[in-house]
Amino acid sequence: MDFDNENRIVSPDFNAADEALELSLRPKTLHDYIGQEKVKENLKIYIEAAKARGEQLDHVLLYGPPGLGKTTLAGIIANEMNVQIRITSGPAIEKPGDLAALLTNLSDGDVLFIDEIHRLSRSVEEVLYPAMEDNALDIIIGKGPSARSIRLDLPRFTLVGATTRAGQLTAPLRDRFGVIARLEMYSKEELSQIVRRSAGILGIAVDDKGALEIASRARGTPRIANRLLKRARDFAEVMGNGVITEETAQIALSRMEIDALGLDNIDRMLLTAMIRNYNGGPVGLETIAATIGEEAVTIEDVYEPYLMQIGFLSKTPRGRVVTALAYKHLGIDMPGQQKLDL
Ligand code: ADP
Repeated sequence: MDFDNENRIVSPDFNAADEALELSLRPKTLHDYIGQEKVKENLKIYIEAAKARGEQLDHVLLYGPPGLGKTTLAGIIANEMNVQIRITSGPAIEKPGDLAALLTNLSDGDVLFIDEIHRLSRSVEEVLYPAMEDNALDIIIGKGPSARSIRLDLPRFTLVGATTRAGQLTAPLRDRFGVIARLEMYSKEELSQIVRRSAGILGIAVDDKGALEIASRARGTPRIANRLLKRARDFAEVMGNGVITEETAQIALSRMEIDALGLDNIDRMLLTAMIRNYNGGPVGLETIAATIGEEAVTIEDVYEPYLMQIGFLSKTPRGRVVTALAYKHLGIDMPGQQKLDL
């Protein structure tokens, strides 16, 4: 089996079709950014304090599953600080020279956003350390015994790093961030607020129950909520009077084979494969990956966070285990008394 995660409707990963949509839907201010109250409150204080001192904001590390609003928040930070943002990603910065070019082209106070920062190479990371710490770039001139290092001053800047896996960041890099914030999955109520906000911007008619229905199936993720909203509109226009109600949302979502909890075929297949082939676990990540023909990192970043959030999968030292809740949801009898008590 091989799954096309790119085109999966409930994939939190960014795909090409999201680009135009997300551009118009991204909130520009902390005030418009829904949820993540703790992170927002703290950032607000840090931003105000930095502005009052006339300094740039400390470097910020944002981590959490894809689609929760890390890029959006980086844009908001730049906007609230009244500076420009430069956007790049770990894999895009191939050589130390690429990073040096980016850094020297910043204007004073700018935000440099590096997505997937855990994927920077070691040699690139080493250029980043003095840049983050001393606003300096160390350049080696010459080779062999006559080689010497000269230090160039850089503009002051704020690095905003985003990662789905904070655990993979090297300690020296992690230690250079003054602010480390973890983004949480959104509640149904927050997502329904996001759906209503997006509907307003896109001119889509949705009633409160329709918005809540979409929100409950969006896997705690704004990116998915926005995507489902767009699809539900098509159904509402063709099948009804264009208004997304609870009923049209339900019909639209079941046509997309997304169930009441937001699981799609792939989630169900993953759980079923674990049950059928490994008795529900414990089973190692690599084994699951091989069984369903998906990369281990994708399972860990994309599928698992939500399945764990809703209590369908649990992590044990011996591997992943499908819980009684998941058996019940899938309508599969659970063998053994012990597991029934989970
Ligand atoms: P990430 O960088 O974490 O993958 P993004 O910042 O690209 O996620 O967010 C995906 C989309 O979800 C954005 O286009 C934005 O419209 C929406 N979004 C994310 N967080 C929020 C939020 N807190 N409030 C409103 N919309 C949000």
